Amino acid sequence: MRSDELPLSRAVVDRGAHLRDEHHLAAFLATSTTRVVLVREGRVPVDGTGALVLSTVADARATSGRTDEDPWLLLGVDDEIAYLGLRVAGSPDETTDLPREGSPADRLVHATTASTHAASSRSDEQHAHHAPPAAREAVRWASPREIGAALPARDAGLVTTAVALDAWHERHPRCPRCGGPTRVTQAGWVRACTVDGSEHYPRTDPAVIMAVLDADDRLLLGHARAWAPARYSTLAGFVEPGESLEHAVRREVAEETGVVVGDVTYAGSQPWPFPASLMVAFVGRALTTDVQVDGVEVELARWFTRDELARAIVDGHVIPPSSSSIARALIEDWFGGPLPHTTATF
Ligand SMILES: [Zn+2]
Repeated sequence: MRSDELPLSRAVVDRGAHLRDEHHLAAFLATSTTRVVLVREGRVPVDGTGALVLSTVADARATSGRTDEDPWLLLGVDDEIAYLGLRVAGSPDETTDLPREGSPADRLVHATTASTHAASSRSDEQHAHHAPPAAREAVRWASPREIGAALPARDAGLVTTAVALDAWHERHPRCPRCGGPTRVTQAGWVRACTVDGSEHYPRTDPAVIMAVLDADDRLLLGHARAWAPARYSTLAGFVEPGESLEHAVRREVAEETGVVVGDVTYAGSQPWPFPASLMVAFVGRALTTDVQVDGVEVELARWFTRDELARAIVDGHVIPPSSSSIARALIEDWFGGPLPHTTATF
């Protein structure tokens, strides 16, 4: 796999780390070409065609009802357009915080989006926005987990960063050293303690995910206790303190299935901001094939040949991971192409 082709790894916007200060943020907020990704509880607004809805600063402010500068996030600058995230407070009513629909500014944003797509790479052309106005107005909140694979590269990168930063702010309101309140600085990339002055940065937790293959090139897939029936995926787990990535691969596979892994080869990575993971993918070569699941996290695990997996998917006995996930890419790399669709009805 190529990491830069994975759905949530395709960021193309310059993150503009040198612009993360109050002076630049204020300038971007005062610039009419600035575009805003609203983010609310891990989700972003998309229209009826699944395209990301970008707002002007004025529309975003009107939507959020917030006038302070704390919820703004500088996502980056591309082609002289600044992209900001705006954190919108959650609400039980799904529709109250949606961006205003059909305003002249909104249509302008869509026009900009379409022309940008037309001028960008070939893989983005299929996403160019030619939907009728009615489809554009059916705006809803959606997770990048759901829509990531269908977004053009620019929007996938913006959304992934916005959702990751929002999740970090949401979970880290206080200073981890003294428990004091913190305030947001550096255009959303730092929280500074108002008591001891310490600075705190967004966290990313590495997790390993692995295609484990045996000597016959069969693939080991597991079913977690917490998942819907028939859902199978590659094994995965968080890296522990004091552990290398390769060690984490071998430990997780041994803990969850009892299989001993020898050689471990890096395959790619993808941010997975639900809430703060970086999925680091590997191919592991199994030295043993006896499977004994832990029964705690992993309930079932088994080896599949390519034919067995294809048949199980078609029959509905195996539901593979979503097309946004790096697990899907690992499985399709091994499979040699796209997985078949099921013919079963649920
Ligand atoms: Zn403190």
